[in-house]
Amino acid sequence: MAAQIMPMPDIRGEAFPVLTAEQISRIRPLSKVRNVNVGDILFEPGDTEVPFFVLLSGGMEIVQPELQGERPIVKHEAGEFTGEISMISGRRCLVRGRVTATGEFLQMTNDELRALVARDAALSEIFMRAFILRRVALIRGGYGNVILLGSRHSAQTLRLREFLTRNGHPHAYIDLDTDKSAQDLLDHFQVKPEEIPVVICDNRTVLRSPSIQALARCLGLNEHITASEVRDLVIVGAGPSGLAAAVYGASEGLDVLVIESDSPGGQAGSSSRIENYLGFPMGISGQELAGRASAQAQKFGAKVLIANNVTRLNCEKRPYELTVDCGQTIRARSVVIASGAQYKKPNIENLTQFEGQGVYYGATFIEAQACGKEEAIVVGGGNSAGQAAVYLSQTASKVHMLVRSGKLSDTMSRYLIQRIEENPKIEMHYCTEIVALDGDSQLERVTWQDKNAGEISTYDIRHVFIMAGGAPRTEWLNDCVAMDDKGFILTGRDLDPVLQDYHWPLPRAPLMLETSLPGVFAVGDVRAGNVKRVAAAVGEGSIAISLVHRALAEL
Ligand SMILES: Cc1cc2nc3c(=O)[nH]c(=O)nc-3n(C[C@H](O)[C@H](O)[C@H](O)COP(=O)(O)OP(=O)(O)OC[C@H]3O[C@@H](n4cnc5c(N)ncnc54)[C@H](O)[C@@H]3O)c2cc1C
Repeated sequence: MAAQIMPMPDIRGEAFPVLTAEQISRIRPLSKVRNVNVGDILFEPGDTEVPFFVLLSGGMEIVQPELQGERPIVKHEAGEFTGEISMISGRRCLVRGRVTATGEFLQMTNDELRALVARDAALSEIFMRAFILRRVALIRGGYGNVILLGSRHSAQTLRLREFLTRNGHPHAYIDLDTDKSAQDLLDHFQVKPEEIPVVICDNRTVLRSPSIQALARCLGLNEHITASEVRDLVIVGAGPSGLAAAVYGASEGLDVLVIESDSPGGQAGSSSRIENYLGFPMGISGQELAGRASAQAQKFGAKVLIANNVTRLNCEKRPYELTVDCGQTIRARSVVIASGAQYKKPNIENLTQFEGQGVYYGATFIEAQACGKEEAIVVGGGNSAGQAAVYLSQTASKVHMLVRSGKLSDTMSRYLIQRIEENPKIEMHYCTEIVALDGDSQLERVTWQDKNAGEISTYDIRHVFIMAGGAPRTEWLNDCVAMDDKGFILTGRDLDPVLQDYHWPLPRAPLMLETSLPGVFAVGDVRAGNVKRVAAAVGEGSIAISLVHRALAEL
């Protein structure tokens, strides 16, 4: 009989498959048999290195311990297996597993499971699909070890929600603007308004307006990663290019560490739907793409350190040394710089005051929720702005698209131009720029100028999505590698005119994606001459790995 799962009838079969006797016989040689008795607790929330179990006989239940009692999640029977994505990522377990019927289980360590997954493609597919779907079920069901109590008017609430969501970390969100009983609870604990949002982490620790670093620490998201060893490859940035490099590097046997200042996904993670990435005819949200890519990288053994900003590359030292803002120094024989780009902030005096409180730099479900049915402004004339306008028009009453030049970008996809032109809710304003933002704690009014007519108009619009211009994220590199006049990193033949100034030490010329430092590569949107596409970023990430092998062989 199949597992009984709570809220996900549509995925039951794939999330909780029953293994055949033949499949179990392939697992048996790598595992040991464990006799279990009713009431045995096999794992608890917060445990690390939780074993993987296949039930030969007997039964077990998976529950979520809560402040008051337990919430049932699923019951496993003979032929089924335990685990979800933390089994691959190495992060802390989120649930409790208790034996409900005496029997025999096969037990494997995380490393043994990873070895099995690496050599048995059919089992790998079954496990990975189940682990991902189970994580999705936990997220959709509001399970997990985090409760976030916040307000839609608080920038820090938005930041934490984005962080948890983009990391695929199951959590419950309580909106204090609508749930008055939760507000009473906060009053009871004397939480001051400036301490909101509040996070109850692991059912134990109460964090008041924490940073993403503090939240990541409390959840132990990075505790399975050590900084002491010299890595074959350190990748800076977990956008599409960095994750692609991680998948190819780890699958080809390199010891790979990815360091990400925020959450995996990069710019693509802030996209509601990517429709032109090969293989996804229905489109895929940036977040889902990033979640799958992270799981894939970790399946092959890559480690992903999140909420850690690289602040410096020490190019004098070999192996290279990277300084992380938590104070750690990480050493690497080779480096892939995949730190991407971010929107240029327009020159508006009080812009930062409204960031997260009416001014947003992404357009996913969370920001769309903040905007609700109100009018919105999207600034920009490129693909990402077009995508945001179309997406927001599904919920907003009207979307004003403000474009600085006289037309949409030449690089905007044809399908997007057509959707914008045919959408009655989107109004175009060419040669127009925002000149002022007004409000108290929340954005309340926007003033823009039509540069052709010279006309200045003010509107009561409370939501502005800025999606214009791409500035490279190379501030942390100082003068370590050669860059163009806009700060994008020069690679390969583009280095010819400046190579002498950077004391290139080798008899050979830099390889295709290699920077002016041997063994340091740049890929994706951070590279001079990039094309700002997910597919190109992924392609460059994979090409870089074949070049990393060559560079490592020279050491
Ligand atoms: C809203 C939006 C929609 C888009 N839609 C499409 C689309 O439909 N199709 C398409 O092909 N392209 C699309 N793009 C473009 C595409 O997303 C980018 O080309 C792609 O994400 C570039 O990938 P990347 O890995 O090079 O850089 P990024 O995606 O920019 O990722 C860089 C990562 O590095 C991290 N980082 C930066 N500095 C540091 C540091 N010092 N330490 C640690 N980490 C650091 C960042 O936090 C980030 O996660 C869209 C972009 C946006 C913004």
